[in-house]
Amino acid sequence: MEETDVSLRLDAILLSRETIHKRVSELAAEIIDEFRGSELILVGVLKGAVIFMSDLARAIGGEVDVRMDFMAVSSYGNSMSSSGAVKIVKDIDTPAEGKNIILVEDIMDTGLTLSYLGDMIMARNPSKFKICVLLEKPERKKVECAIAYRGFSIPDKFVVGYGLDCAGKWRNLPDIWRVAEG
Ligand code: 5GP
Repeated sequence: MEETDVSLRLDAILLSRETIHKRVSELAAEIIDEFRGSELILVGVLKGAVIFMSDLARAIGGEVDVRMDFMAVSSYGNSMSSSGAVKIVKDIDTPAEGKNIILVEDIMDTGLTLSYLGDMIMARNPSKFKICVLLEKPERKKVECAIAYRGFSIPDKFVVGYGLDCAGKWRNLPDIWRVAEG
């Protein structure tokens, strides 16, 4: 999508809170199957992944020894287009070597952010490394990036809510919405 100054409004719910909740539980069950009894560091990409990762961590519960860490990268700012440039603003606090790590992201658009962060974490020799995204826009994909846990594939439309923002707004909405102009 191109950069735009027009005002935006919430258009329609794309994914309801019930649909999201059910899928998050399913993803958690898959993660429990793979990591039961082991230590696992969930690494969330700030700020968009915060709400998804919080729900995912709670859904995983006590069957996995979960730790939480965060990274921050330069974002879209107030625009809705990807510059393709990824700058690390905050790195994880925990050394990744020998650890089980799942990188948790709200949405994979072109895949540039996740492939960059994935390469960076892999270079630190974790024991196991997986990527978990809530949303993926297959039509927008520019680079291959192996996703182990995927919530939903969605069309190439800008969405907000459940952690996803538009110029900092609407992250706290419990459902995921499409936005429209006007
Ligand atoms: P990528 O590097 O995969 O192109 O970009 C991923 C980032 O783009 C996401 O973390 C998110 O910040 C932003 N993004 C891509 N599509 C959307 C969208 O539909 N809504 C929102 N709010 N952010 C998006």
